[in-house]
Amino acid sequence: MSKRILIVGAGFAGMWSALSAARLIDEAGRTDVEIALIAPDPHLHVRPRLYEEGPANMKAPLTEIFDAVGVKFIQGTVGQIHTDRSEVDGHDMQGRAFTMHYDRLILATGSKLFRPEIAGLADHAFSVDQIDEAAELETHIRNLAQRPDTPARNTVVVAGGGFTGIETAAEMPARLRAALGENTPVRVVVVERNDAIGPDLGPGPRPVIETALSDLGVTWHLGHGVTAIDAQGVTTADGTRIESNTVIWTAGVRASALTAQIPAQRDAAGRLFVNANLAVEGVPGVYATGDVASAATDDEGNRTLMSCQHAMNLGRSAGHNAAADLLGLETIAYSQPKYVTCLDLGPWGAVYTEGWEREVKMSGMEAKQLKTRINTEWIYPPRADRAEVFASADPRRIVVA
Ligand SMILES: Cc1cc2nc3c(=O)[nH]c(=O)nc-3n(C[C@H](O)[C@H](O)[C@H](O)COP(=O)(O)OP(=O)(O)OC[C@H]3O[C@@H](n4cnc5c(N)ncnc54)[C@H](O)[C@@H]3O)c2cc1C
Repeated sequence: MSKRILIVGAGFAGMWSALSAARLIDEAGRTDVEIALIAPDPHLHVRPRLYEEGPANMKAPLTEIFDAVGVKFIQGTVGQIHTDRSEVDGHDMQGRAFTMHYDRLILATGSKLFRPEIAGLADHAFSVDQIDEAAELETHIRNLAQRPDTPARNTVVVAGGGFTGIETAAEMPARLRAALGENTPVRVVVVERNDAIGPDLGPGPRPVIETALSDLGVTWHLGHGVTAIDAQGVTTADGTRIESNTVIWTAGVRASALTAQIPAQRDAAGRLFVNANLAVEGVPGVYATGDVASAATDDEGNRTLMSCQHAMNLGRSAGHNAAADLLGLETIAYSQPKYVTCLDLGPWGAVYTEGWEREVKMSGMEAKQLKTRINTEWIYPPRADRAEVFASADPRRIVVA
């Protein structure tokens, strides 16, 4: 009877899991293992680009690639995972229920923006977290010109001054001017509850970020978070009122809620702790990868972040190791000691750092060229060519993007 490796999620981690499992099964010459992947859409959603213009187009088709290497795509959503009987329950796009057995499960359902219980947030805040949400923001900005010329119309508030908040804020002055006219007095304010912009990015790139944002005309309000949002603006913890018709929430991300159904230890963001093979300890046959996993990247105590950089390589490792485990072949421990960041700073350029201390190696237009290559080439799926796919899915090929 044939065995099944079941992957849930078609993001960076799920896609690379499927391709690397297919690679090992092909190399082993096995025809008795099915690789099935369940996700709502047979496209890779390129989430790292959703702060850019045209977010509705930030996706790449996967059907041909999966067909080229024999991955079975099942369009649907998983609702329950039963690790006690190695099954998942889901629904297809017509709402019909299904149950699937697995011999190895790779959970790759990613993450979502966390929206805390702040008054008005659910009704009035935009986001750049998912394609439909970013597209809604873009339409809203285009339509601002139809409103009366007021400070609220001309102001964007970005709530959260982390990686996504900074990238989004840097884009906004030009986007607002394009919508409202070059001479409109546009205002973009980042509200960050910590005392520094980019609190998680550390002091290394901060001077470059501050210079870039200042040059672009972005200002920031630090030390007090947003406490209320309405259609006309935000109020912050110190009572400051900022009039704005466009509030973009970027603060906080949580792992997919499916992680709570795996009986294992999770971190504060809901990620499952995995071992070097990316298996969830104590839950036989279950692997976690990408944004739903927390794995050691090296022997020095560093762990993966919710990032595309880690998700792609975690995917290659999870797929290989789940297949190797099933076939009785050698696993390859996940290891990714090199860590870089490349932060887009809109028309100003970008900043590129290396190491966990984030030492700046490049900035301005030189770094922007690198960012453009990352965002338009390196993170996209390979061509639908079997040999090319297998070469790029080898887990020994750690790519630092
Ligand atoms: C605006 C923005 C900018 C970013 N910039 C960067 C950056 O510059 N550099 C960087 O490294 N990272 C960046 N990231 C983070 C990066 O996008 C994520 O870390 C990456 O997408 C994680 O990949 P993943 O495959 O784990 O999850 P995801 O990309 O979230 O994919 C999850 C997949 O699971 C599917 N799924 C979810 N639930 C279910 C279910 N119940 N059943 C079936 N399928 C399901 C989804 O449809 C999707 O296919 C950015 C993210 C955002 C939003």
